[in-house]
Amino acid sequence: MPTTKAYATPSASSPLAPFEIDRRHPGREDVQIEILYCGVCHSDLHTARNEWKNTIYPCVPGHEIVGRVIAVGDRVQKFRVGDLAGVGCMVDSCGHCHPCHEGEEQYCENGFTGTYNGPMFGGGENTFGGYAQSIVVKEAFVLHIQHDEKDLASVAPLLCAGITTYSPLRHWGAGPGKKVGVVGLGGLGHMGVKLAHAMGAHVVLFTTSPSKVEDGKRLGADEVVISRDPRQMAAHANSFDFILNTVAAPHDLDVFLQMLKLDGTMTLVGAPAEPHPSPEVFNLILKRRQLAGSLIGGIRETQEMLDFCAEHGIGSDVEVIPMNYINTAYERMLKSDVKYRFVIDMASLQ
Ligand code: NAP
Ligand code: ZN
Repeated sequence: MPTTKAYATPSASSPLAPFEIDRRHPGREDVQIEILYCGVCHSDLHTARNEWKNTIYPCVPGHEIVGRVIAVGDRVQKFRVGDLAGVGCMVDSCGHCHPCHEGEEQYCENGFTGTYNGPMFGGGENTFGGYAQSIVVKEAFVLHIQHDEKDLASVAPLLCAGITTYSPLRHWGAGPGKKVGVVGLGGLGHMGVKLAHAMGAHVVLFTTSPSKVEDGKRLGADEVVISRDPRQMAAHANSFDFILNTVAAPHDLDVFLQMLKLDGTMTLVGAPAEPHPSPEVFNLILKRRQLAGSLIGGIRETQEMLDFCAEHGIGSDVEVIPMNYINTAYERMLKSDVKYRFVIDMASLQ
């Protein structure tokens, strides 16, 4: 089996460090990719530190992968050696349940296989993610990249932060005439702002960081609200069609539910380790408001999102880092000190 240099953590309390992993030889339907860049998602940190209590060690995180195809199996039809390619959060699913048939593999009833940390449910071997020099993935889970190669680092975060915000914005109809809120200006949030703006919605960013107001506007927000300022919040009460909440920590949901108008929806994509305080029922009842959740997006929709971003000139705002900076990057991410996604340059792993 081909050995690949990677970065892994052996336990919840250890830093990430150099590690070697075996990748399978590409099978007949497989694409082998030399990883050029990998984004750093807050989910990587949750998993590396076992915050969701499901981590299998050693753990090699990374599910915002872009690179170049270096080998393909003989049944592969859509990729050739030399193509740019992307891999997101999934590398397999059962393929025969209802959600898989609908192209919503992320909701596979038998559990999709994560790019790292193995299958969602049941047994099966652990999978190792994109903090590595290469990866081998079934063609059906590999994405095409139309962006210019020079923009590749900023494409990596689209594979998770991009699709996780694009999918709910589309599902809940963000577009012209709609007032859309995005809570939290981190990796997901900054993509939410860019995408909702490109879809034509009136976009309001809610941030806890006064230092991010100007950036919020530059990224596409029509208005920016400091969510800890009750006076600024009151001015927007009962006015939103849709709010996308990307916050990675437990917080008071009621202050945002009160922003929704009749029949408005707030969708949670942030996945904190500890639960939010339970929201006040009357905030939902009195205006038939809905509180929802959403998980990444299917492969078909991920390709649609990548093509939409290429067409609209959208990439992520990134800080490119060497692999050995990862532990510092995690600490900075916890302090909301990243503009707005760390992306690892895999050449630094040679
Ligand atoms: P991130 O870059 O760390 O951004 C999170 C943002 O939330 C921060 O920048 C900050 O924005 C805000 N925030 C942080 N702590 C806060 C607090 N205590 N109170 C209020 N706001 C706070 O993280 P990310 O990579 O965007 O990921 C966000 C969450 O989504 C994570 O939990 C991740 O696991 C989850 N996720 C879910 C999916 C899915 O499919 N549902 C996919 C990927 C990631 P401000 O400074 O602007 O307030
Ligand atoms: Zn992610």
